[in-house]
Amino acid sequence: MTIDTSTSDQPLPAPVEFTYDWYERFLRRLLDAGYTPTDYGESLSAGDVILRHDVDFSPRKALTIGRIEADLGIESTYFVLMNSPLYNVFYKPVRSVLEELQSLGHTIGLHFSTHQYWNGEAPNEAVSERVGAERDALSAAVGEVSGAVSFHRPDEWLFRRSFDGFISTYEERFFTEIDYRGDSNQRWREQHPLAGERPEKLQILTHPGLWGEDDADFETRLYEETDNELERTRRFMHEQFIEKRYNVDEFRYQPER
Ligand SMILES: [Zn+2]
Repeated sequence: MTIDTSTSDQPLPAPVEFTYDWYERFLRRLLDAGYTPTDYGESLSAGDVILRHDVDFSPRKALTIGRIEADLGIESTYFVLMNSPLYNVFYKPVRSVLEELQSLGHTIGLHFSTHQYWNGEAPNEAVSERVGAERDALSAAVGEVSGAVSFHRPDEWLFRRSFDGFISTYEERFFTEIDYRGDSNQRWREQHPLAGERPEKLQILTHPGLWGEDDADFETRLYEETDNELERTRRFMHEQFIEKRYNVDEFRYQPER
């Protein structure tokens, strides 16, 4: 394995733009530098990169990102919420998105929100129990799920902890031996994900909802996508209850490319 650790002679297109084009160039750069996309396994080798996505609010954008990756031969993990107010994994259009992601070679995992159950720190056993219940439900919707679980908006008490029954994306090794680059709150605008020397092992987190055809800031993207989902819900309610049309397939998500 050889990782090209040079950065100064080959700068990435900068500044970071939250566009599909930029994300695709970013992926190509990772591959060119010698990284091998890999899964959450027991141990990573030098040159391995884990690509992780937390699907907070946009299945449609997750599918778009999933297609871009598949076109480059990259497989990654999509972590989904079971208690989002904006999407439901049992709702057929969402299930179709998750099935397509799986057919592209990606893995579906649980994105778990402790905030739905506790206001502060919870005992490990209680977390494992709730995570187990949600993973069973997710599995009922999509079949096999990832052995890893990502926490939504994690509080610090979750950092460096290990749990029985699943791999936490915030367990010790992801703070020590494996470097972490996440796009939360679009912070890559200030901190370029490939600034400095390139680490030997890498976990990269992106939130598909923050990306689009054109660049937009964090809040614009958030509210734009919330409005989209609410408009879809309004149409769905109208068709089901006023027009008495029940063809759910008409609500299938159209990826943006
Ligand atoms: Zn999240």
